[in-house]
Amino acid sequence: MTNQKEPKDPAHEFQEKLQEMLKSGNMSFMFGPDQHQPETKNKEEEPADAERDDALRRIREFNLKPREARDYLDRFVIKQDEAKKVLSVAICDHYNHVRLCVDNEAVREKDYMKQNILLLGPTGVGKTYLLRCIAKLIGVPFVKADATKFSETGYVGHDTEDLVRDLVKVAGGDVQLAQYGIIYLDEIDKIASRSMSGGRDVSGRGVQVNLLKLMEDTEVNLQSQTDLVGQMESIMSMQRGGKTRKRTISTRHILFIVSGMFDGLAEQIKGRVGKSGIGFEQSAGNEHSDTEYFKRAETIDFVDYGFEPEFVGRLPIRVACDYLSPGDLEAILLNSEESVLNQYKSDFTGYDIEFDMTREAIAAIAELAHKEKTGARGLMTVMEKVFRDFKFELPSTSIRSFEVTTDTVSNPSAILKSYLRRNSKSQKSVLKKEVASFASRFEKEHSLKLRFNTSAVTTLVELSIESDKTIRAICEDKFRDFHHGLLLVSRNTGKKSFTITNGVVMDPDGELSKWVVKSFNKED
Ligand code: ADP
Repeated sequence: MTNQKEPKDPAHEFQEKLQEMLKSGNMSFMFGPDQHQPETKNKEEEPADAERDDALRRIREFNLKPREARDYLDRFVIKQDEAKKVLSVAICDHYNHVRLCVDNEAVREKDYMKQNILLLGPTGVGKTYLLRCIAKLIGVPFVKADATKFSETGYVGHDTEDLVRDLVKVAGGDVQLAQYGIIYLDEIDKIASRSMSGGRDVSGRGVQVNLLKLMEDTEVNLQSQTDLVGQMESIMSMQRGGKTRKRTISTRHILFIVSGMFDGLAEQIKGRVGKSGIGFEQSAGNEHSDTEYFKRAETIDFVDYGFEPEFVGRLPIRVACDYLSPGDLEAILLNSEESVLNQYKSDFTGYDIEFDMTREAIAAIAELAHKEKTGARGLMTVMEKVFRDFKFELPSTSIRSFEVTTDTVSNPSAILKSYLRRNSKSQKSVLKKEVASFASRFEKEHSLKLRFNTSAVTTLVELSIESDKTIRAICEDKFRDFHHGLLLVSRNTGKKSFTITNGVVMDPDGELSKWVVKSFNKED
């Protein structure tokens, strides 16, 4: 429910559907199931209905208190205490109101000032993550997009209304559920219409005005002008005198959250409040002090930055996210329930491998990640470098556990090599087992037994080590068409079991030909 979806290219989608239709002779997609059978319930829709009912039930029964929401976020998101507090209050207020609206027409029609939120902060500090966690907690659909992809007319880029249509897609087409969803727009600072030498750059202004409409209360047509499939559906439906579905969605209860890094804003605020204003003697431009200046941001600062006052006015809740220090990154690895460390542990568990990481190694990874200057995203980059070859090699070995130390972090390939060297003896027995598994797969597939003798196994193991290929790949290559010849031999002689010697491994086709000839001569 909380995943972000890239909408399909409509022209391509239309062509695909058309081809599908021509192949199957089925035109139903043109009309939609509910237009032909408005009275009887379509059986296939039942699970979706059940899912929708469950999601709406969760909204109807929403009774979280801000502290409970904050405690939930604490399980996943490290630091960002102020953002968690502010978001918890805003979300609880919003969904309390939504709860009242779901069943009560009168409340729904009342004017309500939405608490749209503006998050400020550097990349990778958990802005999106906070919102994903919240959407998951409440069970509402969630979409994220970058403000930079919109153009004023929707001609070059996307139309801002596509955001709302995407929300409906994420909600599985359910307008009722989508109208209570969350839309998150990142890089909002990029649509500021900054002063330029020749006046004002107005390109962002049009996008702001369009977004403003969405944030207020507007009816969005579910069909985009570029949605060829949808348009065809409507035309065909009208021609057949079919019933039309509700084709619009109100944005009144959709919660909008926008965010950005706001380059240069700290400097601007500093100009307004002066250094002493924050009691913090550091210049702007430093990640830490920027956060301190962001906390002092007022409407006037955003207007000076290039936002329309009405636009900023629609974002009454503003909160600055903290930058993450190496210590915070360490805390993420250690304490966040979904940390990348836990993800790696579960990836390795998939191969029956466990690993431990020393506290020093965790600190070293956090230190390296901090140097990436991409917030917690740096953790993934560093972990990937450390574990890349381990993930590739270890699943094919008998190694079932290992320890990650600071040496592993600083020189993963040397440490991996030493593991593989120490394991080389038992590795041979793993490879031997792989020969046996190939034979058993072969028997299952062709009902013919291959008995690899000791010398054949030794040769295959050596070939595998020398060529850095798996036994499976070597055997599949050597014995690719082997069963055809063997079936012939089997038909001629009744034999079902064949001994594979070193000679057969070295020249499978040559040896097989000899067996076939012999079998015709009834020599075997
Ligand atoms: P942004 O602030 O740019 O939206 P994200 O929320 O997308 O950053 O962060 C990227 C990933 O980094 C998240 O999916 C999460 O795994 C991790 N992450 C970022 N910040 C935190 C945090 N404060 N606590 C725990 N994990 C975090």
